[in-house]
Amino acid sequence: MRCDILIIGGGIVGSSIAYHLARAGRGGEIVVVEPDPTYEFAATPRGNGGIRQLFSLPENIAMAQYGLAFYRDFETEMAVDGEPAPIGFKRRGYLLISDAGGHRQMEQNFRVQSARGVRADCLDRVALGVRFPSLRTDDVALAVHSPDDAWIDPQSALQGFRRKARQLGVRYLTDRVEDWRGDGRLARRALLASGETVEAGVHVLAAGAWSAEVATSLGLALPVEPMSRDTYFFRAAGNIEALPFIKTETHLAFRPEGKGYAGGLPDWETPPGWNFEVSPDDFEARVWPALARRIPALERLKLERGWAGHYARNRLDLTAIVGAWSGGLDNVYMAVGFSGHGIMHAPAAGRALAELILDGRYGTLDLTRFGYARVRENAPYREIGIV
Ligand SMILES: Cc1cc2nc3c(=O)[nH]c(=O)nc-3n(C[C@H](O)[C@H](O)[C@H](O)COP(=O)(O)OP(=O)(O)OC[C@H]3O[C@@H](n4cnc5c(N)ncnc54)[C@H](O)[C@@H]3O)c2cc1C
Repeated sequence: MRCDILIIGGGIVGSSIAYHLARAGRGGEIVVVEPDPTYEFAATPRGNGGIRQLFSLPENIAMAQYGLAFYRDFETEMAVDGEPAPIGFKRRGYLLISDAGGHRQMEQNFRVQSARGVRADCLDRVALGVRFPSLRTDDVALAVHSPDDAWIDPQSALQGFRRKARQLGVRYLTDRVEDWRGDGRLARRALLASGETVEAGVHVLAAGAWSAEVATSLGLALPVEPMSRDTYFFRAAGNIEALPFIKTETHLAFRPEGKGYAGGLPDWETPPGWNFEVSPDDFEARVWPALARRIPALERLKLERGWAGHYARNRLDLTAIVGAWSGGLDNVYMAVGFSGHGIMHAPAAGRALAELILDGRYGTLDLTRFGYARVRENAPYREIGIV
């Protein structure tokens, strides 16, 4: 078959790109190839759905700001035939905690964030303890609280993007790209597991942690690898005040979920690779002590379940790679390597890539510095602070 724009991977990033292209109404025929409409192993439904403006890079802040506004209005804006698209948007804030010596950087980031319109408070140990009395603070140098930040249910958002994109005419093929071919100047076609071939004028790679593997057949080298990350759902035995999404320099990351909490303690030393096994022993040995250390009331908790998901980690600089394949085939674009931020950044990445593909340049948010050129030149553009 033939189409104008082929998108490889229909997770939240690929589906946002498809939606933004279709919404513009100038993309022609758009096809998304996605092997699993249930998204069992994709990162999106396994993510925590957090949206925070607390970054150091201006692009990351601006993308989160667009994401925040986009998800706030998602339920009505993405309604299909009058049926709303609820995504459980909860504006409960984020709290970043400096407990490993990075407080000067956190303060510097806070200034950058404030200058860019982020409403946040810089809290010393005493102020932090007053605002969130359940927290242990004696080892905290500084914290930043952004009450406007939020979280969503990522699977609902993904299905909402997909439904709306289809309503706007996007076609989803339940199939897998097995081979990707070009002629030295342009990408030409994708060969699918079913034996079908898709020829397209524009090719977009958005296959999450599978992206590097898919890209190989076209000769596109990507520093993107799967990083397994366990999440646990647990309930506290005692009462704790309403908490925001908490992230610490010592890598604890968790937030309220229903009547309990969801989160974990990623081990950045874990070698890259696929691993869907979750270890209750690891929860007991590493995660629980870290939780109880930060919130003593969590010394009593009930672990109910755990699951593993995979970051598409960009080992160059942990920052997403968005844009054209500069120095490569002219009609290939990508939105890959989002590490732990692809849900919050999917709306902005989709809008930006749609502009670049349709107009040849960015219109609303310039993501040039996120481009592939830095991979080719081995010039990291790194987020500094808590990632
Ligand atoms: C534990 C955890 C917590 C997280 N928390 C957050 C958070 O709080 N906030 C946030 O913003 N982000 C978070 N993330 C990150 C976020 O989940 C990802 O960045 C985001 O979901 C990436 O979306 P994606 O569409 O690129 O990838 P995916 O959702 O993985 O989608 C990629 C798709 O490509 C498809 N695919 C694979 N191979 C092929 C092929 N050969 N042909 C065609 N299609 C193919 C797959 O089936 C898959 O559906 C978290 C991630 C994890 C693991």
